[in-house]
Amino acid sequence: MSSPYKHFMAQVTRTARITPQTVRITLSGLEGFADTGLDHWVKLFFPLPGDRRPVYPTGDDWWRTWSADPGAVRAVFRTYTVRRHRPATGEIDIDFVLHGDTAPGSRWAARAEPGDLVGVWGPGAMYDPPEAAGWRLIAGDETALPAMAAIVESLPAGSSARVFVEIADAAEEQPFETDGDVRVEWLHRDGVPAGRSALLVESVRDATLPPGRPYAWIAGESAMVKALRRHLVNERGIDRADVCFSGYWRLGKTEYDD
Ligand SMILES: Cc1cc2nc3c(=O)[nH]c(=O)nc-3n(C[C@H](O)[C@H](O)[C@H](O)COP(=O)(O)OP(=O)(O)OC[C@H]3O[C@@H](n4cnc5c(N)ncnc54)[C@H](O)[C@@H]3O)c2cc1C
Repeated sequence: MSSPYKHFMAQVTRTARITPQTVRITLSGLEGFADTGLDHWVKLFFPLPGDRRPVYPTGDDWWRTWSADPGAVRAVFRTYTVRRHRPATGEIDIDFVLHGDTAPGSRWAARAEPGDLVGVWGPGAMYDPPEAAGWRLIAGDETALPAMAAIVESLPAGSSARVFVEIADAAEEQPFETDGDVRVEWLHRDGVPAGRSALLVESVRDATLPPGRPYAWIAGESAMVKALRRHLVNERGIDRADVCFSGYWRLGKTEYDD
């Protein structure tokens, strides 16, 4: 099978503020973009301030070129989830969490306008429940909400899931549509900054969960994901192979920091 990873030069076609802290940006120019899974992600390469077009190494070995010269001046990249893919029009939607004006991804998304260019590389995905798994446990913060929404929306009638979403406050809720039997808990930090709350971990720890073998998917701030995974494996006894997890961001660090 050929690799799904490809480089695209995409163009912003629409932007919409879907919650006070989330902007949905539609990108076009993605003809031939593969569907790899429900939580599929891409790397986005943002132009440097003042540039129209992002400049960066492309090709199959772009990462090797990138790593070989860490001091080079070039586009900054960050990772995002494809909330929706419309192959017929070569479009994808990405939901950006706006968390301030100094971080390159958040800053670019807050200012994006139709016609702006952004590099796209991907996609990859990790959600892959085994057939023998029963109910789903889906947990994460707002950066994981696009993937959680896509997973929940895909659940067929007869399936069941417990979903825990940590968000800033009630205004950030995004209702899910699903045929599955899904119970969603919206956990509001209400003033506690993202990455500094124990709300998600404590809520899962305190929950009475269904019996049977679950498949768990967890993503969000890295320390929170680690704590949650540890709880599920060590205290709940869930097989580690049935816990799919990813640190989507790290408090006080960027994607390149060690
Ligand atoms: C597979 C994957 C899928 C992802 N999908 C999405 C997605 O669909 N939407 C999305 O918004 N993010 C998503 N993320 C997370 C996103 O890549 C990070 O939040 C990234 O750090 C944003 O880049 P930035 O330039 O805005 O901030 P950076 O320059 O990376 O970080 C600057 C500072 O901001 C902090 N920070 C980063 N993100 C946040 C945040 N959300 N809230 C508060 N502080 C933050 C960092 O700790 C750091 O101190 C995903 C990450 C992965 C790995």
